[in-house]
Amino acid sequence: MNIKTEALVIGAGPVGLFQAFELGLLGIECCIVEALEHPGGQCTELYADKPIYDIPGTAYTTAADLTAQLVRQIAPFNIAIHYHQTVESLQQTKQHFVATTATGSTFTAKQVFLATGAGAFTPVKLRTEGISHYEDTQVHYAALADTQLTGKSIAVTGDAQAAVDCAIQASRHAASVLFLHRKRRLDANEQSLAQLAELTDNGTIQQIKGKITDFTAGNKLENIIVQQSPDLCTTHPIDLLLVRQGNSPKQSNLESWGVNTEARHIPVDTANYESNTQGIYAVGDINSYPAKRKLILCGFHEATLAAYAAAARLRPEKPIHLQYTTTSTELKQRLGVTTTDKG
Ligand SMILES: Cc1cc2nc3c(=O)[nH]c(=O)nc-3n(C[C@H](O)[C@H](O)[C@H](O)COP(=O)(O)OP(=O)(O)OC[C@H]3O[C@@H](n4cnc5c(N)ncnc54)[C@H](O)[C@@H]3O)c2cc1C
Repeated sequence: MNIKTEALVIGAGPVGLFQAFELGLLGIECCIVEALEHPGGQCTELYADKPIYDIPGTAYTTAADLTAQLVRQIAPFNIAIHYHQTVESLQQTKQHFVATTATGSTFTAKQVFLATGAGAFTPVKLRTEGISHYEDTQVHYAALADTQLTGKSIAVTGDAQAAVDCAIQASRHAASVLFLHRKRRLDANEQSLAQLAELTDNGTIQQIKGKITDFTAGNKLENIIVQQSPDLCTTHPIDLLLVRQGNSPKQSNLESWGVNTEARHIPVDTANYESNTQGIYAVGDINSYPAKRKLILCGFHEATLAAYAAAARLRPEKPIHLQYTTTSTELKQRLGVTTTDKG
């Protein structure tokens, strides 16, 4: 995939999503790249169901709902979010920046917005020695299509919502599902836990509390060895092992992308949230400046000023006047709303 766009936003956390909104409002074409398979960054990865009370004008929301609203807000601009794409390098040519992802896709843009927050969320891997050899053939950290699960003996491992959902989904297609977890109390919603309990009671899913310590293999991974207690290890034949142990953030090598960093953050000019490199902005948790606070509302402000600065660079011939969404016909046209629309 080789994509050309005016502006590239790296990161679909709350600030990256709002950055895309502000760019859309100013008539700047953009797209977003995101390491995860879903938007929301820390909000969805670390505290999706928790309440947030300090989003202006919103007395209460959950992190998941805030993310859903941010996604809804950018819908009028048809902004593509390219999921499961981790940017590994950013290079500057005479006129453009080129971001290259781990899958070899390239994104060419005139302006780049780093909304990379705590870093690219990547799956927490199994530590069982040698098992990485079977990654992407029998050991999977990302979602598989239903057809890939059909008729297979599947083990799912993890303690939270993603693992429970994965086991339930697999049970609809697989020949057998073994659900392995370490915790007595799984961190999932009541509805999913009730469904899991029902599938376990009727024998569709077998649940074991234990840890994968070893495996046996010929040409293929054949059995996993599960330690259930200090003196009980059991052997289970499998075709596929689906690992859902959550994701942890890994910071990119930002210096190699051409921006200065201090203590793993990008110092910015608070007039426009630009880094030391003209055309590369840093917004949200990744930036630093005097009195910086890692709060979503601060990121929203930063994204707004960065978008105005980028608009001035991209359209030097056109003064960028402040316009209100309440009254501006131009902004309403971009939003696809009429004066009577309430959203
Ligand atoms: C438990 C908890 C509770 C919180 N509660 C509040 C609260 O009540 N109010 C509040 O204002 N703030 C709160 N915060 C802080 C808030 O979540 C952060 O300030 C906010 O998420 C920062 O948004 P961001 O978009 O800058 O970064 P992030 O949310 O970290 O998102 C960055 C995104 O960029 C992606 N990414 C990074 N690098 C790459 C790459 N190289 N390629 C592709 N994608 C990449 C990541 O995968 C991630 O999805 C809380 C944080 C935590 C942990």
